[in-house]
Formats: sequence, C-alpha cells, structure tokens
Amino acid sequence: MTTMPAEFTRDVLPGRVVFGAGALARLGPEIVALGAARVMLVAAGKRADLARVAAAHLEGRVVVTWTEVAQHVPADLAERAAAAALDAGADVVVTIGGGSTIGLGKAIAVQTKLPLVAVPTTYAGSEMTPIYGLTSGREKRTARDANALPQLVVYDPDLLAALPPSVVGPSGLNALAHCAEALWAANRDPVNDAIALDGARRIHEHLRAAHEGEDPGARGQMLLAASMAGTALATAGTSLHHSLCHLLGGMFDAPHAETHAILLPYAIGFLRPAIGQQIERLALSLGVPPERLELELWSLAHSVGTPRGLRGIGLTEEQIEQATSAAVSRRLPSPRALTAGELGAWLAAAWTGQPPASGTAANHRDG
Ligand code: NAD
Repeated sequence: MTTMPAEFTRDVLPGRVVFGAGALARLGPEIVALGAARVMLVAAGKRADLARVAAAHLEGRVVVTWTEVAQHVPADLAERAAAAALDAGADVVVTIGGGSTIGLGKAIAVQTKLPLVAVPTTYAGSEMTPIYGLTSGREKRTARDANALPQLVVYDPDLLAALPPSVVGPSGLNALAHCAEALWAANRDPVNDAIALDGARRIHEHLRAAHEGEDPGARGQMLLAASMAGTALATAGTSLHHSLCHLLGGMFDAPHAETHAILLPYAIGFLRPAIGQQIERLALSLGVPPERLELELWSLAHSVGTPRGLRGIGLTEEQIEQATSAAVSRRLPSPRALTAGELGAWLAAAWTGQPPASGTAANHRDG
C-alpha cells in the first residue's frame, strides 16, 4: 500500500520575484507598478558602485541614500535610518546589497511600515523571509514581521560578478544551511521540503564553479538556490544551528556567513541521532552516502575558502565556553536535547576545525 502523506498546514507568503541576468533594468518600472515615487535607497558605503547602478535605474526617484550599514543590525542604527526615511518623506525602501543591507532595510520597514524592495547581491537568502534581527548590547534578537518581507525582490546574477571569492563560499554555505535546517525546523512541510532539497542540490552542484568566478550560469544557479533557501527558511523557521549562529553573532560579533559555513557539518553531526530521516533525504539529493554527509559539507566548505574552525574567525576557547552555557540556559530550540557536556564537546570540535566524525548510516525510509 502507498503511504498517505502526513497532515500539514502551510502559510504561503506573498511577494513578487523578478529573476534574470540584467533584471536590474526592470527595477524602475517595477517600483512604479508598486505605486511608489519617493525612494529611500539603502546601500553600504563601500558598495557605492551598487548604489550608483541602482540609482540610475530608479530614474530620479531617490529622495535619500543611506550608506551606514553594519552586520547584525545594531538597534540604534536602525532607529536613525528609520528616522531619516520619515524625514525625507520616502514612500518605499529599496536595498541593494547583501544580508546586512537587507537586514537594515527590514528594520526600517518594520519601524516605518514602508514597503520594502530588495536587490540581493549575496546568497544570504534574507530577501525571501519576514525574519529580521536587531542587536542591542551583546544580544541579537530575531523576530518575524510581515513588514520585514520585501514586496518585491529583483534578482540579477550579473550584480554578483564582482563578489569576492572569500564572500561567495561562506555565503553559499549560509544558503545551504537554510535548506538543511528547513528539513528539521518546527514548521516544515512536504512542499517546503521539496524546495529545500532542490536548493541544496543546486548549491552542492554549483557553489565551487561560482566560487571560481568564471561561470555566469553557476552564479545564476546559486542565486536561484539562495532564493529557494530563503523561501524554505521563511516557512519552516529555524532550529539549533541558526540559533547558535545568532548567539555567536550577538555575543561576539562573529561573521554571519562564515559562522554558518563552519558550524553546519558539526551541527548535523550532533543532531544526527534525532534527524536520521532528514539526513538520508538531504544526502540523497546531494548524491552522497548519508554517513558521509558531515564530511562532504566540511570538504565543500573548505574547498570554497571557509576559514578553518571557529578559531579561524577569531573566536577564543573561553568565548566558546560562554556560548555553550548561554545556549543551554536560553534553551535554544533543538530536535535533540541539549546538555552542556555534549554541546560543549561539538562546539570544541567546531572551534578546532578538525574533520567531523563520520555518522552512522541512517536506517529510515521516508514515508
Ligand atoms: P553582508 O551583507 O555583510 O555582505 C558580505 C560582504 O560582501 C560585505 O563586505 C559586502 O560589502 C560584500 N558585498 C556584498 N555584495 C557585493 C557585491 N555585489 N560585490 C562585491 N562585494 C559585495 O553579508 P551577508 O552574509 O550577505 O549577510 C549577513 C547578514 O544577513 C547577517 O546580519 C544575517 O543575520 C543576515 N541574514 C538574515 C537572514 C534572514 O532571513 N533574516 C538570512 C540570512 C542572513
């Protein structure tokens, strides 16, 4: 007999996506179609090239350009930027840049209720989610808000041609982490699983070529996969891996994409006893033996320039101990119970960057 699919409930998120090489040329008409005429343009100061090209396509509609951008979105920065949007009488916020720029745009949109448009230039996938983060003191808090979800996303793979290889690699692994964790996060569903698995497959297939930089098609495949990754994350939510990355980002300003790229294989190794079925499906979609999944992801991360271990991004052993205590006391969501001893042991392995231990073959079949 054929297995009946399990019951599920799925919230489908709104929003328009325009995808294609050269798609930035459609930004102006798409903004007009949204009914907007006064743009706040958000682009990091060091990405003046992106701000210029976006402004050219916005054809005189930019009333204010905001260039101060910081990773993990400090709350005071968000407040100042939101005030600038209101002072300028903007009726739409347009971001061009990576997840940090989009994150600031989200915080502005949440505070001002202005519609948000994103032109992503990394593989972070944030543009497809209503999740936003704000950092105060040493704590990064994430929340969901309908206003944080862009009404329009314009994906133009040409904009990523100058993305440095040192950003491409970890950014691609950040997207892969969204796809992986979407398979075991609380709100997963079978439609979302299909998106997550195909996104992961594309990243596994194309990240190395995108990292080498000579293949525009690989960049396009990666950007499409990043969109799928964000979509999967938006619906399923996050679990232990993402929560730990946010914890390390908030407590120690750990670089976001690199933290994801380093931790993912070890997080999967720790969770393996609780997620055998998901590991088997993910490995099948990547075409690797399930028991080698951690090692395969670790090798992929290293082949695209991910720093070796959490110590490679400047974290100290003492900080890892502090993060372990904080993770246990804050009861981070996890499909496997957290104890300080076990969590400490795998975070210590992630700190050294040693190859993760091979898993045992999962023996479940999906129903
Ligand atoms: P980032 O935005 O900081 O960009 C990384 C680097 O790439 C920066 O130095 C930037 O200047 C450079 N860069 C970006 N585009 C470029 C281009 N086209 N050419 C050359 N250089 C370019 O990093 P990120 O990894 O994209 O984003 C990290 C942030 O995004 C974190 O704050 C994270 O929390 C957030 N995020 C949020 C979600 C969500 O759903 N809310 C999802 C993923 C990431």
